[in-house]
Amino acid sequence: MLLPKQCSFKANFQHCKLPPSEVISILTENGEYMIGVICDTHKNEIRQRIKTLQTRGSIPQGKINFQDVTMVATSCMKRDSCSM
Ligand SMILES: [Zn+2]
Repeated sequence: MLLPKQCSFKANFQHCKLPPSEVISILTENGEYMIGVICDTHKNEIRQRIKTLQTRGSIPQGKINFQDVTMVATSCMKRDSCSM
């Protein structure tokens, strides 16, 4: 899995430039659906945004899952198929 170097949050058509601290995904019946990465500042905003998108049906329903970026990167490096 290739992780972005910047927070995925966008406001007023501008991308947040902060380094991400957590990976956001949605746990659905069909598996994990990755949304993006988020910095500490935008954690609550993205949670609200995901709920709105789920209500609209733009993204799958399920539990919002936050995972530490460094943890994801570390587990990734243990796998041979990883592209990082
Ligand atoms: Zn951010």
